[in-house]
Amino acid sequence: MKTYNIAIDGPSGAGKSTISRTVAEKLGFLYVDTGAMYRVIGLHYLETGSPSLDGLTISLKYVNGEQRVLMNDRDVSEEIRQHSVSRAASDRSKEQQVRDFLLEQQRHMAKKHNVIMDGRDIGTVVLPGADLKIFLTADPEERARRRYDELLLRGEKTFDYETILHDITERDRQDQDRSIAPLKPAQDAIILNTTGNTFEQSVLQIEKLIRKHTGI
Ligand code: C5P
Repeated sequence: MKTYNIAIDGPSGAGKSTISRTVAEKLGFLYVDTGAMYRVIGLHYLETGSPSLDGLTISLKYVNGEQRVLMNDRDVSEEIRQHSVSRAASDRSKEQQVRDFLLEQQRHMAKKHNVIMDGRDIGTVVLPGADLKIFLTADPEERARRRYDELLLRGEKTFDYETILHDITERDRQDQDRSIAPLKPAQDAIILNTTGNTFEQSVLQIEKLIRKHTGI
């Protein structure tokens, strides 16, 4: 059976995950947050100190209608959002063995379900045949502001705005400059800059694009 695959790529803090999750819920698609999968690998590395992926399982599970991320059956949905894990995820995402490990799982999900999958290389590498590819971005200052507000909400008050902005810029550079699967728009991606948009405006814009490209 044909499944619809929507690829949403872009830098961190562009609003990819919250927008993708909301649109997926509205359309009844599975939302796959590939960044969360890289974060699990980052967390695993911070905890074990070993780069080995042997015996590591990552799964997405719905609990009371909410998607949770499991690392070897342990719910790590909150832990993977910590600032230190972002950095570890970005570091490990440069390794071919890590990308191959996740690529297989991501393609498998897209074959079985209608998916909105967000990440950095979904349109370029993971799902080159996606029905629609969107590259979602926003100015670095706005992305840093959103990330800062998010960390504050979670009670991580140790970081100031300037540090977050520096970190976002640094992570962008690291994601764009790596030789394997760098962050860049696919040739056939629609580029959306959400600076100044409300969340609702972005959701509506993407929902319309998906309906247009899939006919649903
Ligand atoms: O999207 P998020 O900020 O959660 O991703 C964490 C890190 O995982 C990114 O900085 C990036 O290095 C890596 N990543 C990736 N490819 C993806 C998704 C995330 O390299 N498809």
